Amino acid sequence: MAFGWIDEQAEARSRAGLVRTLRPRPADSPLLDLASNDYLGLAHHPEITEGAAGAARVWGGGATGSRLVTGTTELHTELERELADFCGFEAALVFSSGYAANLAAVTALGPHGSLIVSDAGNHASLIDGCRLARGTKQVVAHADPEAVGKALGTHAGAAIVVSDTVFSVDGDAAPLAALAEACREHGAGLVVDDAHGLGVLGDGGRGAPQAAGLAGADDVVVTATLSKSLGSQGGVVLGPARVIGHLVNAARTFIFDTGLAPAAVGAALAALRLLRREPARAARARAVAAELHARLTAAGLEAVRPDAAVVSVRAPSPEQAVRWAADCRTAGLAVGCFRPPSVPDGISRLRLTARADLSGAEIERAVRVIGETRP
Ligand code: PMP
Repeated sequence: MAFGWIDEQAEARSRAGLVRTLRPRPADSPLLDLASNDYLGLAHHPEITEGAAGAARVWGGGATGSRLVTGTTELHTELERELADFCGFEAALVFSSGYAANLAAVTALGPHGSLIVSDAGNHASLIDGCRLARGTKQVVAHADPEAVGKALGTHAGAAIVVSDTVFSVDGDAAPLAALAEACREHGAGLVVDDAHGLGVLGDGGRGAPQAAGLAGADDVVVTATLSKSLGSQGGVVLGPARVIGHLVNAARTFIFDTGLAPAAVGAALAALRLLRREPARAARARAVAAELHARLTAAGLEAVRPDAAVVSVRAPSPEQAVRWAADCRTAGLAVGCFRPPSVPDGISRLRLTARADLSGAEIERAVRVIGETRP
């Protein structure tokens, strides 16, 4: 029977308690949200929704074509200019998703004959970028600049080091300055994914590379998503103009993909402008994360100290993690639930996001619910 093997896989997944299902979120969800990646609480901000609606009215519901044909509007180039300027890089290129941006950066910068050194804790999109790239891959221990240096020492030609800036599972930060140093020692490029750093880390949310003093460096390339702290959708690659020019000519997820929808461009532009006007939002997200962590720890829960806005709480097993998240939901709290295969170490977790717009009372309520429902 066609697709018969799917049933076997489904059964195995079910036995392991790892079945995933979709749960549509109603527009007027009554749940307290600690599950989304809307770190700055901007997805529903009137300036951002109007940015989306206004852009759609002027430029249409879709980009109408790939970026190299009809899909580059003046709004796209405006967003690229402002993103580059905000983050402190020479140039920027936006993509239809952060996933596509990561595939583009790793494949275009890791060609045949090159070495790609990748952190073991990297996001799936970076891993897939490595899989698609023609270079030789070497996976190194998580957040280990020494291992990176050693790996680079084994190769004489072109090389890149690929890492998340903030790892999406535990919310821990990469040792960016040390990684950059290892790269410089070996003449390698550093490609970092700032999906969870943009809008949260750095001055006014300018991102983890800016916080580490790497903004504008000619050997650093940054990817990010517009779908988390900017409350929109899409992805971006930031870096030297010559690298961005190379991506326009060589990155398949740029060349063969329809341009980012104008509504997403408009929303991201509005968010960026709001962030410039209200730089305290980034620090507030970090403060909420610190408070969440302190309260969870005081309640005897095993929470990882956050470096950005992601707070991870260990669960005893995948089944208990799923039940814990479901019990939180019943008590009015939405939390993320990470379990294999999304977690490289096999440890299931509740994943909380510290939104800048959470009040003290909401943080307290969230911690109380998590404590009361713990397995
Ligand atoms: N990188 C990281 C670290 C992420 O967490 C995500 C989103 N889950 C992505 C890339 C992909 O971004 P997007 O959702 O815009 O495709």
